[in-house]
Amino acid sequence: MKYYRPETIEEALELLSEGVPLAGGTALAPERRTLEAVVDLDRLGLDQIEIQSGTVRIGAATRIQRLLDPDFELPAQLRRAARFEASLNLRNMATLGGTIMTANARSPLVLVLLALQTSVSISGEASEVPLDKLLDNRMTGETPFLIERIAFALPGALHYEYVARSPADRPLVSAAAVAPADGKKYSIAIGGYGERPRLLDPVAGDAVEAARQQAARRYSDAGDVFASAEYRSEVVSILVERVLEEVQS
Ligand SMILES: Cc1cc2nc3c(=O)[nH]c(=O)nc-3n(C[C@H](O)[C@H](O)[C@H](O)COP(=O)(O)OP(=O)(O)OC[C@H]3O[C@@H](n4cnc5c(N)ncnc54)[C@H](O)[C@@H]3O)c2cc1C
Repeated sequence: MKYYRPETIEEALELLSEGVPLAGGTALAPERRTLEAVVDLDRLGLDQIEIQSGTVRIGAATRIQRLLDPDFELPAQLRRAARFEASLNLRNMATLGGTIMTANARSPLVLVLLALQTSVSISGEASEVPLDKLLDNRMTGETPFLIERIAFALPGALHYEYVARSPADRPLVSAAAVAPADGKKYSIAIGGYGERPRLLDPVAGDAVEAARQQAARRYSDAGDVFASAEYRSEVVSILVERVLEEVQS
């Protein structure tokens, strides 16, 4: 396997015709015998966290543990979700970009980022892509692409709730709600089942029952070895009610 460590984004993009991006390597390592080349993102300066004029920008090569650093005043519930994402050792290695590329619906961090209506900057793309869209398209392209950073607006309020087999386990069912600072509709994401967390249609603040029903319908077939569809459908509606109540209080 060839190992490249470019110093610039331009160099990295050229090398992506030969190999795949290597970030923390925690998901790639088991595949190492099948990879022809990797392009290490470590020296591209993609590990910055900036908060300016109400917008948060985080570089894709930022380690998950860094999101917990109190120096950066990230929303407390985002930091909580980052802590639940993985154990300390993994959080010190795994990056935001790698997590977005590999996460399934049980990822607390990607669920919360989705509820925050996060957008993603991809090298060579003129405009940012909604995370919601990227999650559908992330593994379908022939050529590897490079996520540079993500961005989201600081929310008016944000809350995350989950049910798991134990407090530190990944969720069987989860929900996050965001009250936007600009008074628009509430953004809600649900997770715990499937390949990725899902956004519900945005709801007005007084439409709690409609949001509950929408969530229950989305999980009406969400059965697997971890939980039945009946269980998930009922619990997700309760979690949606709770997160909406929290962001409205
Ligand atoms: C012991 C252990 C337990 C784990 N448990 C879980 C678990 O419970 N749930 C879970 O979801 N995962 C789990 N993982 C997998 C892994 O930790 C996560 O998926 C992690 O978030 C990947 O991040 P990374 O930075 O290490 O990515 P990498 O391994 O470096 O890369 C992962 C993928 O993302 C691509 N990629 C990385 N950065 C970028 C970028 N900036 N732009 C474009 N593509 C990029 C890579 O090319 C690769 O395809 C576990 C891993 C280990 C070792």
